[in-house]
Amino acid sequence: MMIFECTSCHTRYRLAPERVSATGLLVRCTQCGQHHRAFLPVAATAPSPALVSAPQPAAAPAAPAPSPASSRPAAASRPPTTPAGEIQRLARVVFSDIELYNADRMERAVRDGQFQQEFVAEIQEARKMLRNRFPGVADADGIFDAALDQICEQRRARVPAG
Ligand SMILES: [Zn+2]
Repeated sequence: MMIFECTSCHTRYRLAPERVSATGLLVRCTQCGQHHRAFLPVAATAPSPALVSAPQPAAAPAAPAPSPASSRPAAASRPPTTPAGEIQRLARVVFSDIELYNADRMERAVRDGQFQQEFVAEIQEARKMLRNRFPGVADADGIFDAALDQICEQRRARVPAG
């Protein structure tokens, strides 16, 4: 008997060498369905080290890296599980969505402090969603506006003036 190992899922099978011709034997792995061509070992008498070695240990899962604390004090003092944190997160999402489709307009609007005026339609849409998602948060709009202002401020610091 020779041993054939599926290269995809590493299931091992016993094969009768007499079934394997010089051109190999087409075998289908019953575990993963992969087709392979099994060949006779080159030196049929000497066991290949690959076949007798212990199975490879599965790679240890990497330890989850500790998430870096936010550098923004406002965000750090508000865990993202609170409605306010969720609204701030939403503001960031809305901002990057708008930016994705309007990069040039966005840059100008932010630089000129006209973000809310320039994208009034988009922001109104976001407010509608906000009221649906956070009906119990009376100041959702205010939190949202403040978050947008803060994002714009941070962005302005990065955008070269002129
Ligand atoms: Zn397999």
